[in-house]
Amino acid sequence: MLKSHCRGNQGRRTQRGDRAGEGFVSVDQSNLNGGGDGRDIFDITIIGAGPTGLFAAFYASLRGARTQVIDALEEVGGALTAIYPEKYIYDVIGFPKILAKDFVAACDEQARQGTAEIHLNEAVLELARGDDGVIRLGTTRGTRWSRTVIVCAGVGAFEPKRVDVPGIAELEGRGVHYFAKRVEDFRDRDVVIVGGGDSAVDWAVTLEPIARSVRLIHRSKFRAHEATVRQLHESTVQLHYPGCETTAVHAGDDGRLQRLTFKNAAGDETTVPADELIVAIGFVADLGPLKSWGFELQRNQIVVDKITMATNVPGVFAAGDVAWYPAKFKLIATGAAEAVTAVNHAVTHYDPKARLDAGHSTAIMEKREKEMFEPANAGSPV
Ligand SMILES: Cc1cc2nc3c(=O)[nH]c(=O)nc-3n(C[C@H](O)[C@H](O)[C@H](O)COP(=O)(O)OP(=O)(O)OC[C@H]3O[C@@H](n4cnc5c(N)ncnc54)[C@H](O)[C@@H]3O)c2cc1C
Repeated sequence: MLKSHCRGNQGRRTQRGDRAGEGFVSVDQSNLNGGGDGRDIFDITIIGAGPTGLFAAFYASLRGARTQVIDALEEVGGALTAIYPEKYIYDVIGFPKILAKDFVAACDEQARQGTAEIHLNEAVLELARGDDGVIRLGTTRGTRWSRTVIVCAGVGAFEPKRVDVPGIAELEGRGVHYFAKRVEDFRDRDVVIVGGGDSAVDWAVTLEPIARSVRLIHRSKFRAHEATVRQLHESTVQLHYPGCETTAVHAGDDGRLQRLTFKNAAGDETTVPADELIVAIGFVADLGPLKSWGFELQRNQIVVDKITMATNVPGVFAAGDVAWYPAKFKLIATGAAEAVTAVNHAVTHYDPKARLDAGHSTAIMEKREKEMFEPANAGSPV
């Protein structure tokens, strides 16, 4: 059973003079919100909490937009978290060299400075624009409403790759994990980990001191960070590789995983105790539902107007890897610039009187700090 995650400064409808959101003050929404029909309508909804979506969330907060972010994954960071957390990035502004996971942590912190709600573990399945221009998003958790949407969906929603063994699906949540979270859940347990990348190797060395036993089963050689692989070889983790794969899982009387069978390269099978199985064999990405939302597509990307980042669906913008225009570069840096363009145009879409260019963050924040201490003189939001 997947848990619901809602992080950020959710539900904070700050008033001028309020210190919430570290100086990010929401515009007065009383004349915009809901229309009394029970719909909780956000100004901007961002689909995807990769680097582009997180920066868009920060920037939307800076512009005073009531914002929500939705991502299918349990963690923020998109491709950086799912595919290459331990790789160094060299071409993002301000960091000569930074691990992807550390960069994500900084993006997350920046996004959380604002007032955006961040909903994880929630996939957007439907997008439909009503006659009143309000956009309805059907998600795996229900319905959300928004005046504008910025799609920052990268190559699509990431899903963990699953092991294809009879009966394993029934044991998900009963010993079989695709997203391991809490180290303490594995204390004094017999743990089997399947995979050979960063995530699998990290979990093996992390759990070794606290689990009763840890085994790592892998088909090939390890592709994780060199130092962690060295640590793995020096540990007591029992390694079964290369050419080893799971062939059967066995439940106990309590309906939980109890044992696991794997075969080696020669085809010989071994059955071992397994209270917990962590499958960490990567992710698959799928644009999936986005393809049926009426966008003009170019292969697996949404065609946008390069000037505004608008898609062909009114009120819906796209930024980052998912957006396509001639001479597009799929980079973190370009995604951030596109996010700014998309947010500014989204703001003028739902509020035509707002300025397109809000100016520099230095000036915006100075003005807001001043307003906080002089609430009576508060002017129009940017
Ligand atoms: C191995 C590797 C190394 C790289 N190295 C670099 C580098 O050094 N420098 C660089 O600039 N770039 C690098 N890149 C590219 C960089 O990772 C991408 O440009 C960047 O991740 C794009 O960010 P994004 O936010 O647009 O999309 P993503 O990071 O792909 O995030 C998209 C998010 O949207 C979510 N999502 C999608 N559809 C839905 C839906 N329907 N509902 C809910 N959520 C959804 C996904 O779960 C995901 O979290 C690298 C890429 C790879 C694969």
